[in-house]
Amino acid sequence: MPSSKKIKDILKHVKECSPGQDEFYQATQEVLYSLKPLLDIDKRYIEYNILERIIVPERTVIFRINWLDDAGKIQTNVGYRVQFNSSIGPYKGGLRFHPTVNLGIMKFLGFEQIFKNALTGLQIGGAKGGSNFDPKGKSDNEIMKFCQAFMSELYKHIGKHKDVPAGDIGVGAREIGYLFGQYKRLTGEFEGVLTGKGLSWGGSNTRKQATGYGSVYFAENFLNRYNMTLKGKRCAISGSGNVAIYTIEKLYDMGAIPISCSDSKGTIYQKDGIDLKALKVIKEIHHQSLEEYATVDCKCQYIPVSKYPEGGHAVWHLECDIAFPSATQNELTLVDAKALHKNGCLLINEGANMPTTEDALAFIKENKILFAPGKAANAGGVATSQLEMSQNASMAQWSFEEVDIKLRTIMQNIFKTAYDTSVEFDCEGDLVTGANIAGFRKVANSMIDQGAV
Ligand code: NDP
Repeated sequence: MPSSKKIKDILKHVKECSPGQDEFYQATQEVLYSLKPLLDIDKRYIEYNILERIIVPERTVIFRINWLDDAGKIQTNVGYRVQFNSSIGPYKGGLRFHPTVNLGIMKFLGFEQIFKNALTGLQIGGAKGGSNFDPKGKSDNEIMKFCQAFMSELYKHIGKHKDVPAGDIGVGAREIGYLFGQYKRLTGEFEGVLTGKGLSWGGSNTRKQATGYGSVYFAENFLNRYNMTLKGKRCAISGSGNVAIYTIEKLYDMGAIPISCSDSKGTIYQKDGIDLKALKVIKEIHHQSLEEYATVDCKCQYIPVSKYPEGGHAVWHLECDIAFPSATQNELTLVDAKALHKNGCLLINEGANMPTTEDALAFIKENKILFAPGKAANAGGVATSQLEMSQNASMAQWSFEEVDIKLRTIMQNIFKTAYDTSVEFDCEGDLVTGANIAGFRKVANSMIDQGAV
């Protein structure tokens, strides 16, 4: 059967079997279509039904979480762990606590994670998990109660050689601490079952910074390939969480000018560069909204979200050389891509997972804007998580510099793999195709080697 017919049939099947799971469909569509050149030259993938197999999670656990709020009332949320693919190593992928979490979002993130993890060159399979719990407005005590209740079910399904979750949106060092404490209480084992741990109890140096730093290292490699550097480049960043903050920090190190950040309520534009110290205090210590930043720093401009009702986002309408979408999925729309193009943006480097909508991506490709897909550009986080697992296994702790050097090398290798694969398949610089084919090939070959399991 010709590969294009096969891809169409499978996508039709995904649509029928996963009603309402739009993000999952979007992710499978992007990956499957980009695999066509590979499927045309290596018939084994169709012969062994790899496409049919790879789009179905090996296991999905959905569970109820009951927890007591501060008023003594029982609250209920839904928890998920999608263990998507373990062909190249134990499941690995973050936990997201956000009210928008549902099965479709978990499956899209888990699916993307398979290829991202393969690209790191490390032995980790793909997974994702989380809950529709909203940490915003909850007391510290309520967050702890929720994390304990969540882990009371999750612990049955994870383990240091089986599945090692980490953080993601809404899950940072505090939540990982509460989750780890409960795992230890339930199992009696102090083991590296989670990554993103505190430095004094098994965490890795540079893990907190890794996704943001890695994203910037990736951008630098990409620019270098075309004889450019980050120095002096004006960079628009969205988000103001873990990934955005450490993207901004590393951009300053590289001599670039990070001119923006955002959250779900609005955007900060600061022409001469974001005040990183103020941002960290507001977001990492006080967990406040960016409206607060605007009151602290009067040199900035605060643009509330409601200013762009036609579907665009203020952050992408700023004049910039490079865009770092680092908040959430589908946050960069066609309206935004057109604005970036008009303003002369030369590279879009995805720090978040699938932040670019399908039509925006098509426009970016058509107009030859350099584009670094999230599964390659933001892989520094999971790669450093794997370094945390290695340190835990040998009871060691490497210095910040040691881990940072390894991270830099890993990001350089990921870029090289994605770029070289794009050259191999006659689409030089198309890193969507390069990253998808390189990640898929590694996983698919392992699936073939391991037989019908
Ligand atoms: P955080 O929770 O630390 O920060 C998320 C940021 O994005 C916040 O500023 C948040 O604003 C904003 N945001 C979230 N949802 C929305 C929304 N629906 N609309 C507008 N803004 C939104 O998460 P991370 O920084 O860890 O993650 C950001 C992205 O990077 C995600 O796509 C994640 O999957 C991806 N990623 C993260 C990794 C990591 O190591 N942390 C690794 C690889 C990818 P507000 O506070 O107002 O909600």
